[in-house]
Amino acid sequence: MTHRLTVIGTGYLGATHAACMADLGFEVLGLDVDPEKVARLAAGDLPFYEPGLEPVLRRNLENGRLRFTSSYEEVAEFGDVHFVCVGTPQKAGEYAADMTYVDDAITSLAPLLHRPCVIVGKSTVPVGTAERLAGRIAMLAPADGDAVLAWNPEFLREGFAVQDTLHPDRIVVGVPSDPGAADRAEKVLREVYSSMLAAETPFIVADYPTSELVKVSANAFLATKISFINAMAEVCEAAHADVTKLSEALSYDDRIGGRFLGPGLGFGGGCLPKDIRAFMARAGELGVDQALTFLREVDEINIRRRIRMVDLARHELGGSFIGRTVGVLGAAFKPNSDDVRDSPALDVAATIRGQGGKVTVYDPQAMANARRAHPALDFGESAMDAARGAHVVLLLTEWQEFREMDPHALGEAVAERNIVDGRNALDPEQWRSAGWNYRALGRP
Ligand code: NAD
Repeated sequence: MTHRLTVIGTGYLGATHAACMADLGFEVLGLDVDPEKVARLAAGDLPFYEPGLEPVLRRNLENGRLRFTSSYEEVAEFGDVHFVCVGTPQKAGEYAADMTYVDDAITSLAPLLHRPCVIVGKSTVPVGTAERLAGRIAMLAPADGDAVLAWNPEFLREGFAVQDTLHPDRIVVGVPSDPGAADRAEKVLREVYSSMLAAETPFIVADYPTSELVKVSANAFLATKISFINAMAEVCEAAHADVTKLSEALSYDDRIGGRFLGPGLGFGGGCLPKDIRAFMARAGELGVDQALTFLREVDEINIRRRIRMVDLARHELGGSFIGRTVGVLGAAFKPNSDDVRDSPALDVAATIRGQGGKVTVYDPQAMANARRAHPALDFGESAMDAARGAHVVLLLTEWQEFREMDPHALGEAVAERNIVDGRNALDPEQWRSAGWNYRALGRP
């Protein structure tokens, strides 16, 4: 049987999920509370940058399988399966996740459910959320609705979102403890993901709390790996060693592996930082805060990289930013994305401006978001433009276009040939032989 799907919350995760599910042949109705987002998506205009997603969005709007709305009534009436993809940002002033969006989505949807359906949570949530929401659904949903809740955490990476959605590494499904409800949820999700199961994607069925923990522990592991190599970078700097060589040598060990072992300015974005903090907060509530004390250190190592970057740049300028011009290459938290949430690059740029530097930022895709987040910064039209007249250039997001820059051409634009490579993305010899004073995090 083909199910009709809805996707509630059409941001980075939800818009991708909605378009990709329609591409698999399902009829999909997306809902968001942001009317501008709904209007843009319905017009085939992706509100954010994600390589390869816009054509998928457009072809499924054109073939009529994908629509968008702001009406919860329409969604409840339409859907056999409702995917909840709303945001779970960090609460202001504390580490815990702000659950108001998830709670609001369930509170809006549940009372309208007059036909049997499966609600599938995809947002990243603190362990215990699904159990709590299942109770709320049981209380609010009409008796004739027969709504079951499953949790199906999402592992997609921005920049590879389409590929990751259509060809995930694994599918994790948290089901209720009642065997009948569990069977129903599992059966429906096996049908929805049948093309991926046919490709032998591992399908792991677990209880609610285990499924919730898979997501946050995966992020905790990845953040730890990044901070591990950045801690090694700190030691390398003190010992006059080269962390890029160290990381390369470690990467050949199969037990360690090279991915997420690139030393540099560290992690940011809308997931890792807030997810490890929410995980620590939740562990505290569960009385096992000691188990995750190491994540506090992981977070602090990560933040220290940003401070070190500012220090290095200031050092290159002889100890002060006052009256000096700084060209910043990169604003997105990583390449191939326009996401500037908790972006290390913008954090560094704003700190330097706060310390008196004249900062000009350029990013290939994230300019609009960066301007909105930091209206006080100056922005250039190109890498060359951002570097014009600079006393130091900082590479803070490793876009391919920056990796391929010609050091001679850039050298013509700057006031002084100083570059600090915050991502260890450039070839030091190439830059030095073009007359640049090249510095990088974790290298002599
Ligand atoms: P986002 O901010 O881009 O999107 C969230 C959307 O939900 C927004 O468009 C917002 O308007 C909408 N929304 C808020 N309240 C709503 C409501 N009551 N009803 C309907 N819509 C509502 O966030 P995102 O990056 O897509 O992340 C969503 C969730 O997915 C988070 O829990 C995140 O941790 C998780 N996640 C994100 C990624 C990623 O790469 N972005 C990957 C895996 C998991």
